[in-house]
Order: sequence, then C-alpha cells, then structure tokens
Amino acid sequence: MKVAIYARVSTTRDAQKDSIDNQIAYAMDLITRNGWTVAGTYIDNGISGLKVKNRAQMQRLLADAKKKKFDAVIAKSVSRLGRNLVENLQTADIIVSSGARLILPEDNYDSVTSQSKFNFNIRALLAEEDSATFSRRIKLGRQGSAKRGKYQASLPAYGYRRDENGNLVPDEVTAPTVQSIFHWYLHDGWGMQKISNFLTEHGYPTPRTVSNAGNQGTVWQQSSIKCILTNVTYTGTLCQHREEVRSHMSKERVKVPEDKQIIFENAHPALISKEDFKAVQDLMKSKGNSHSNGQESLFAHLMLCPDCGHGMTYRKDRLKKQNGAYVCCGYVKRGKAFCSSHVIGYGTLLTAVKDDLKELIGSNVRLDRLFDAVKGNVGLKQSALIKELNKLNKQQEQLEKNVQGLITLFSNQALTLEQFNAQNQRNQAEQHTLAKRKAELESVIETQKDTEEQFRAFQKKIALFAQLDIDDEQVLKQLLHQVIEKIEVHQDGSIKIHYSIAHPQDQDMSELLQGA
Ligand SMILES: [Zn+2]
Repeated sequence: MKVAIYARVSTTRDAQKDSIDNQIAYAMDLITRNGWTVAGTYIDNGISGLKVKNRAQMQRLLADAKKKKFDAVIAKSVSRLGRNLVENLQTADIIVSSGARLILPEDNYDSVTSQSKFNFNIRALLAEEDSATFSRRIKLGRQGSAKRGKYQASLPAYGYRRDENGNLVPDEVTAPTVQSIFHWYLHDGWGMQKISNFLTEHGYPTPRTVSNAGNQGTVWQQSSIKCILTNVTYTGTLCQHREEVRSHMSKERVKVPEDKQIIFENAHPALISKEDFKAVQDLMKSKGNSHSNGQESLFAHLMLCPDCGHGMTYRKDRLKKQNGAYVCCGYVKRGKAFCSSHVIGYGTLLTAVKDDLKELIGSNVRLDRLFDAVKGNVGLKQSALIKELNKLNKQQEQLEKNVQGLITLFSNQALTLEQFNAQNQRNQAEQHTLAKRKAELESVIETQKDTEEQFRAFQKKIALFAQLDIDDEQVLKQLLHQVIEKIEVHQDGSIKIHYSIAHPQDQDMSELLQGA
C-alpha cells in the first residue's frame, strides 16, 4: 500500500509537544511494521515566521488524493489535519471521500476498520483541539450564560438536576433530603453530626456519590451538611462565577471577589424559603458561640415528646440527684396548657437505655424478627430500583447514538459549529443527569444489598455499647447517636426507644424491637 504522510506544526508550543520529526517517526513506525511504502511527505511548518497560508502542503495533499497518487494518508492525530475543530473534520471528510484510507494512529482511527464514516469519539476529538483556545471558549460561554441567568456550574447543587434544556430543577430523589436537612436543623434542633449520622445510617446518597458517578463516599460528612445549610442556591438564588479556573493547565480554582460574582434572585425553583434560610444562618452563628456540657449533649437531639412532637431540653436544675433532667420543649416554651413536662431524670434515662440495649443484645428472638422484616422490605424496593436502572441504561445508549448522529450531521455540514456545540452540550447535560441518577440508584441498590452486613454491624455496635465504660462520654455519645434514632418519653415517665437501622422506610422496625 502506498502511503502519504502529513505532518503539521503551527506554534512553538505545538512544536515542543509534537515536533515534525516526532510526527513523521510516528507514521514511519506504522508504515514499516505493516510493510507499506511511502508515497510522499507533506509538511506544513508554520513556525519561525514562515506563515503557511491555507496549509499549502495540505492543499497539495488533497489534490494528490484526488489524482489517486496514494492509497492512504497517515497523520498522527485528527488535530494535525486542521487548525480548528471544523477544519479537522472537514479535511478528514475530504480525504475519505476522495477514496483514500485515512489512518490516525493516536486516535485509534482507521477509515477502513472504523464502523462509521466519522467514528471519532467526540470527547477525544474535542480534547485534541487546541486546548487553550477551547478552554477559553468554554470559560467565555459559561460567563455568557451565567449572565443570562442560566445555571452553568459544572455540577448542579445537591438536590437539583438539569432538565432537557439545561435548567436547574428539583431532583425528585435528593431535593426532599435537602428540605429534611433544613427542617431537622431548624425545627427539630438536630445538630450537623446527628443529621450526617442519620443520613449515613439510612443510606441516603451523599453529594459525593451523586457527583462522582461512583460508589465511593457513602458516609455523610458534617462538612457536607454545612455546605448544604449555607448554600444560597436552595432559595432559588443563582450565585454564579464564585470561583474560576485560573489556568487551563493546572485547573487551579480561585475564589472570585464578591462584587464580581453574578447573582440572580428567583433563577430556579427554591427548595427553602428565604426566611428559613436566614433563620438557619442565624442559628448556626448562635450555636457556634455556645458550648453544651457532656450530659446535655449525651442525649441531645434524641429526645422527643410523643404528645406535642417537640424535642426535649436538658435542665441542670431539675432532679438534681439524677444529674438533671429532660423536659418537653413545648411545655417549656408554651406552658401547661400546651403540654405537660414529661420530665425524666438523666440517671433514670441512662439506666433505662442501657438496660434496653443489654436486653436487645441478649434476645435473639427480637433481633431475628427485626432482621426478617428488614429483608422483606428491601426485596420489594430492590426490584423497582433495578427496573429503573435498566431503563436508564437504555436511555444512555440512545444518547450515545445521538452523539454519533450529531457528528455525522456536522461532518456532512448539515450543522454549523454553533449548532453542533449547542446540541452536543445539551446532550452532555442529559448524559450527566442520567449518569448522576444511575450512580444514585446503584449506590442505593448497593447499600441495600449490604443489609445483612449492616445489620451485623448494628448488632456489633450495640454489643460494643454493652461492654462500654460509661465514663467515656464522647464515645458513649457517638454510639448512642449511631444506634438510636429517637427516644420518646411519655407523660407517665415510660420511655420508648426507636433504634436506627439502615433503612428509614422500614420505620416500624423499632416497634418490633420494642414489642417483642
Ligand atoms: Zn410535649
């Protein structure tokens, strides 16, 4: 086979990265290994003031291709063919339509073996383009759309997804989680640690799982809760351009001064009212200044009054012999007419909780009944999730096909570069949403698969609790918050402990624990 070699450099940066010699060596290697012959070399060298107008050697190459002077053209990669995306694709198209075989070893492309006429991977192609120009263009594009009020951060905030037009809309799965987080913090008095424990224990997909399209990071961090509680996006306000990439090489992100940020009110549906958001910010500030003592924080945010639904607050001055007591917040705030005190001594409470845990550990019947119930519920949910996952896989295949279609349209010049970019961006946004949802599902399915394991972990935790020295308040507190979801104190002083198992939907597991 007679082969023409094409090589091109246009900038010094080009030449350092990919010298003419290097490009030719690359092609020669392939030619030698296959026993082909060289029919000619075509070199466009645009360095040292030698401005190559219209890539003269490329023009010669295309003319020779038409005259069938060779059977194939080798260029190192598609980016060598032209000076930009359009030129790259057009040139490739002309070569192939003239009947010559086009081989681009670095892109793994060969017009004979590759399935479609332009079976380049679009991502590889875009990456091959002069990356400086390209990243500048993306940057400008992003600022442009931010100014029009369109959310353009690389990832939507947890709780949102993009619709088919790239607009930010509440995500059916994660938006309620965001609202719960604000509610727990503001109205139920939960701390960030308790919230993150709860979400982890109950297998809520974490922001990391959602954004990484991987299964890592199933543990909620306090910092994630803080990020969510302080993110103004949830009030419907768009705060764009908060940081930018300083250089496309290092990908280093720098904070943009506040006056240069772009802010839009009511840019997308709010998940949280502005009032609640403000209240949360104030609460966070005030909390940061107060310190609670060990006893108060031991059962903090676990205690609940079943009659009025309020939390319970620790009072050092009540039942002093018992080291203080918990009383209903509704009673404290709104008086006798609203609710009774539901007072319970700290000592009594601690003993009761420890006793119940010990009994739970000792009772295989209670544990087995609990486990059977968990398994049953999980099985049902599992099949619905897998069904959805299969649907998403099909949608993803369709999107891949769409990309191929776009490339074909573009290479046939049925689309302008702008149209191509717009369509492609939309497609990518959709792919992103799909991938995100898939990751969520996979993570939930994975979590549920581990039910048995988690259940054993729960068993271990409570066993550990039984052996624990009660003096270590910090460890004790951590364990309490891990195994107990809430403790209800009735008017008559009786208590009901709700244990937290991995699945919040299976709420009445705790009833089983209690009732057995
Ligand atoms: Zn009450």
